[in-house]
Amino acid sequence: MTGGGDPGEGEGGVWKGKQRPWAHLYNYKWRKYRLQFLKEHPLCVMCEQQSLTEPATVVHHKQPHRGNVEIFWRRSNHEGLCKLHHDSTEQAAEKGSPRPLIGLDGWPVDD
Ligand SMILES: [Zn+2]
Repeated sequence: MTGGGDPGEGEGGVWKGKQRPWAHLYNYKWRKYRLQFLKEHPLCVMCEQQSLTEPATVVHHKQPHRGNVEIFWRRSNHEGLCKLHHDSTEQAAEKGSPRPLIGLDGWPVDD
């Protein structure tokens, strides 16, 4: 287990030391799907828009699923992002206006 650029749980599981209410969705099935998705979509789509080539390591939900299983698994709602872009989308959601919905755990909800 060296390198590989895999952030582990990606956007799921433990997040800033807090568990999201829908952490259970990021189960084995998701991890398997995620690996397959990243195989088929190996490049960060946001980097591609800037003519950059960066491997995607996170499967991002374009529409925040907020625990909705149907939206969570909707194939067209997924895109591959690099860690940097995924983190910056989350930060933008935190700083940006309008204020995003706040999750049950008190953190802004956005994937
Ligand atoms: Zn990127």
